[in-house]
Amino acid sequence: MSTFKAPKGTYDLTPPDSAKYLAVREAIAAPLKNSGYGYIETPGFEDVALFSRGVGESTDIVSKEMYTLTTKGGSELALRPEGTASVLRAALEANLHKLGNLPVKLWYSGSYYRYERPQKGRYRHFSQVGAEAIGAEDPALDAELIILADQAYRSLGLRNFRILLNSLGDKECRPVYRDALQEFLRELDLDDDTRRRIELNPLRVLDDKRPEVQKQLVGAPVLRDYLCDACKAYHEEVRDLLTAEGVVYEDDEKLVRGLDYYTRTTFEFVHDGLGSQSAVGGGGRYDGLSEMIGGPALPSVGWALGVDRTVLALEAEGIELELPASTSVFAVPLGEEARRVLFAKVTELRRLGVATDFAFGGRGLKGAMKSANRSGARFTVVAGERDLAEGVVQLKDMESGEQQPVALDALVAEIQQKLA
Ligand code: AMP
Repeated sequence: MSTFKAPKGTYDLTPPDSAKYLAVREAIAAPLKNSGYGYIETPGFEDVALFSRGVGESTDIVSKEMYTLTTKGGSELALRPEGTASVLRAALEANLHKLGNLPVKLWYSGSYYRYERPQKGRYRHFSQVGAEAIGAEDPALDAELIILADQAYRSLGLRNFRILLNSLGDKECRPVYRDALQEFLRELDLDDDTRRRIELNPLRVLDDKRPEVQKQLVGAPVLRDYLCDACKAYHEEVRDLLTAEGVVYEDDEKLVRGLDYYTRTTFEFVHDGLGSQSAVGGGGRYDGLSEMIGGPALPSVGWALGVDRTVLALEAEGIELELPASTSVFAVPLGEEARRVLFAKVTELRRLGVATDFAFGGRGLKGAMKSANRSGARFTVVAGERDLAEGVVQLKDMESGEQQPVALDALVAEIQQKLA
């Protein structure tokens, strides 16, 4: 222990568990890489205004949860609380949308920061893999993204997740609904905070989890009844495409999500083994966001899946990922000469791509064999002075426990053949 601990609401990823996180990131990214999405990386911090304008002043993320800072040069920055606004900003800045190849499809993976009340599944630093498809209004694109997320979760072996789907309408029909909803909500018996929310972001009131609020929301106008014909047709098409591909979803009229930029298609992936922090991922269409941050009209859609909660979901379902052992061969030298000889073999094996490790620190046989065991290596190479005098090393198969002498010159070829 040092004097210091990881800050509140954060945790470290250390071996062997950290391998699971890497595998989850890779599993989520794989279907994207296979579907025309290019990798993008943006800074961990941005101009505060990008988020206040993009995500929305009235959202919890911006009003309560952002880590903001003023630099020595006087810039107002925020650690990124989410990925979409940054990715769109970067795509516009690089003029990716002008290369005549719309939609621009991008994927990313990284750390995000929200000043939240920490609990299981809710952290102040967490990690997401996300995808954005920028510059096309096409229901097949919305469907593609939902299908790819579904595929990612399934490839990990997850089964107890559900897809919630809704349409939030567009700039024609949503304002009409918003007015109707506000009118309804203003008549209810609500606290001052919630009353303020009615004026700022009435759709969020529908999200209120408190039973005394939910009770009053029975009979509230539902967005579905207000969708314009274009939004209705669009939503139908998304649903049909999902159904045709065998992707099961639930219509959820109350799904509004915590970010202001969403229009039309919104969806969330929830896992039933996670308690209150059940959302493992979510996303939707954000047709107006580009204009909100000063860009041209670029209808877009995207999602972000939480890596931390996906790992929790794996644990909840009792899924052990089949992770290949990180080390195939472990070399144990006994004595100075063996150390030099085996170190050279280790380097040679590594150059040939064989995952190999070495007993450092000149420990005795017993301790070194313990490390060999712990490494998960398939083979251990042990060499002492007597072996080397005979021009051999001992090759031990860690699965069968069998050990045999192998000529030093033939060692690398022998190992390659056995591993093949
Ligand atoms: P959101 O941008 O809020 O829709 O978040 C997308 C996904 O990121 C969620 O479904 C979670 O899996 C994950 N996520 C969001 N906030 C947190 C947090 N504070 N801690 C852990 N995961 C989070």
